[in-house]
Amino acid sequence: MALVNFKEMLQDASNGKYAVGMFDVSDLEMIRAVVEEAEALRSPVILGALGPDLEGVRLDYWFAMAKLAAEKAAVPVCIHLDHANTLEQVQRAVKAGFSSVMLDASASPFEENIRRSGEVTGAVSKLGISVEAELGHVGNGWVGSGEGSESGPDMLTEPDKVAEFVERTGVDALAVSIGTAHGVYVKAPKLDIERLDMIKAVSDIPLVLHGGSGTPEDQMSCAIAHGICKVNIYSELLTAWNTAMLEELKKLPHMAAWPAVLRKVPDAAMREVIRQKIKFFGSAGHGNI
Ligand SMILES: [Zn+2]
Repeated sequence: MALVNFKEMLQDASNGKYAVGMFDVSDLEMIRAVVEEAEALRSPVILGALGPDLEGVRLDYWFAMAKLAAEKAAVPVCIHLDHANTLEQVQRAVKAGFSSVMLDASASPFEENIRRSGEVTGAVSKLGISVEAELGHVGNGWVGSGEGSESGPDMLTEPDKVAEFVERTGVDALAVSIGTAHGVYVKAPKLDIERLDMIKAVSDIPLVLHGGSGTPEDQMSCAIAHGICKVNIYSELLTAWNTAMLEELKKLPHMAAWPAVLRKVPDAAMREVIRQKIKFFGSAGHGNI
């Protein structure tokens, strides 16, 4: 049983000055890839779920697979709901068995964000569920739509609002906007590390970086050294897998290929990205249970 508490996992990362990777996973092979590569590197890891993969009856299938993988894992694993927009979505996930959730009210004004994030902690914290919220807004909050977007200056997290937000909402982790964006970058981002330092100076809360895919390594390592302890990755898994699959499809003499065979090379390409990220985040070797 390697399902562990999200808050403690991030606190350990914060104390150890490394980041835990949260990989959004959409199917069984993605779930297996993340957990098995984390095991090979003795790393804690977070399986993330996005709305479209949980629609209707998909939630039950998705969670059953993730839970089985987490329970069999020889490293700590969290199962996290990524980017919930409503309390109803949170409650549905909690009922299924998720142990941590992110409520994203970051596009709302400050007071509204506090109200909605606080509503979630009020409903689920007493059940032992950890809550991540977002202050400031990481641009274009849906995967694949990031093309041409970036987080503008007015969307960045304002350090002087952090302590009040954390205090009034009671959240366990905070996603901050310091220059990353969701999706695929068309030009390299420039992270505002000074802003990150100011945020870190006013609160001990574990800090999360969304839009990790495609962020240049030097900037990512700097952000981790300055306090980021969870990094979200999805788009890079998709681009690696889809690019490899396109090549595999071109090689086929006919289209009646067996899925389990056809996806071997794409799965290997995706696993390589997972390995690289885990090593780069510094969490390898921190997964003893
Ligand atoms: Zn995100």
